[in-house]
Amino acid sequence: MARHGGRGWYGKVLGAALGVTLLAAGASMWTAQAGAVGSSPKTSTSAGPARAVKPVDVTIVHASDKGAHGVNITIDDGPDPAWTPQVLDVLREYGVKATFCMVGTQAQAHPDLVKKVVAAGHRLCDHSVSHDTTMDKKSEAYQSQQILDAERMITEASGGVRPMYYRAPGGAFTPYSRKLAASRGMRPLGWNVDSKDFERPGTAAIVATVEHELPNGPTILFHDAGGDRAETVQALRELLPRLRDQGYVFGFPVR
Ligand SMILES: [Zn+2]
Repeated sequence: MARHGGRGWYGKVLGAALGVTLLAAGASMWTAQAGAVGSSPKTSTSAGPARAVKPVDVTIVHASDKGAHGVNITIDDGPDPAWTPQVLDVLREYGVKATFCMVGTQAQAHPDLVKKVVAAGHRLCDHSVSHDTTMDKKSEAYQSQQILDAERMITEASGGVRPMYYRAPGGAFTPYSRKLAASRGMRPLGWNVDSKDFERPGTAAIVATVEHELPNGPTILFHDAGGDRAETVQALRELLPRLRDQGYVFGFPVR
């Protein structure tokens, strides 16, 4: 299943995006990442205003840089000392690069893990300071603090590698937050497939959900924090080789 049959992909992406917006549930959604992974300024002030940042597009991205057969693995809410290393092991085992949407306080608490994620070739994504899924109901000052403080926390924890995307907690983007993130080089990042791993439905259910919904689009949402993620780790172990056998190629969200 989950075959990419020519067209149909894009229309479904739009439909899924709309559905997600209407749901506005507790699940996480689109993130954006900006900033050059390659450039790693040594100063911890690299996220500050002194350093020029190249703005990116303000629209929420779902597409893969690997094109029609690309799949983007995105991992949210960490880093977590119990689960992030296990997720990294599985990704390394199958040679897959992913996008990690980190919560600012988590990054600040576990800078070693942030550096490991970067060293393994994965990308960073700003997932706000405190994961407030009602951020779209809050003031612009609050949104700004949540996004910019997390950007700084993640960049400091990584040793100067900036987040390349911004994913609003629960997908609670606003036009303001998208514009702010984009101005900081962080592309608003969405998702097409919610693996529902957060609900711990069992590994088989997670695998089935992803395979069933993958025709919706290329960006898949998993979590490496917020509880016992053993099912997530096992689901990735089963899905990554299976998707590869089906002809998918793993990439990053377009910036
Ligand atoms: Zn989240």
